[in-house]
Amino acid sequence: MSKGDLIIISGPSGAGKGTLVRGLLARVPRLWCAISATTRPPRPDERDGVDYYFLPPEEFDRRERAGEFLETAEVHGNRYGTLRGPVEDRIRECYRVVLEIDPQGAMQVRRNAKDSVLVFVRAPSEAELRRRLARRGSETPEEVETRMRTAEQELKLVGSYDFVVINDDVRRATDELVRIVESLPPKERDPSHGHPA
Ligand code: 5GP
Repeated sequence: MSKGDLIIISGPSGAGKGTLVRGLLARVPRLWCAISATTRPPRPDERDGVDYYFLPPEEFDRRERAGEFLETAEVHGNRYGTLRGPVEDRIRECYRVVLEIDPQGAMQVRRNAKDSVLVFVRAPSEAELRRRLARRGSETPEEVETRMRTAEQELKLVGSYDFVVINDDVRRATDELVRIVESLPPKERDPSHGHPA
């Protein structure tokens, strides 16, 4: 694996990671975003195999024991994990792989893949994060408070990241993320895949 094969977009729930990642994928070629597995039930607009692989807890445990995950974490009572196989396949096919994961997972990937690039996405203020979580409407007021407490802990990890993007304005923050990815060393083509030298 080489520098920038794995780009980790992480940070508190509600900071807007998903929106920024969608913008990034639309603008930079040969990027692929991994689909995580989770034990959380799907939200009404989510589809299995598109937003997540929704797995029963026993199936998640079985795959974890089989070593199928690159990283796993428990976030707000549900389990999440990145499946290793598709990530390795895409890197071999000369894609950069984007993981949108929580900070516990980001730290695990950093330990196992030193060349990964870690980007911390945060809201401009605590008040704004609370407002975004409330506006999303998918969490109860108690769940919003839990996420706020988690966010406070997660902010303490910011020093372990390579880049911090403050999501104050989606367009500006997406531009910044695009610049970060474009500043990475170019990916070397694997001659076994038949690309011209
Ligand atoms: P949500 O349930 O709101 O979709 O996600 C909750 C949190 O779990 C978010 O911070 C999200 O980035 C994180 N998450 C999603 N997939 C993964 C994963 O595969 N691994 C880890 N560690 N966190 C994940």
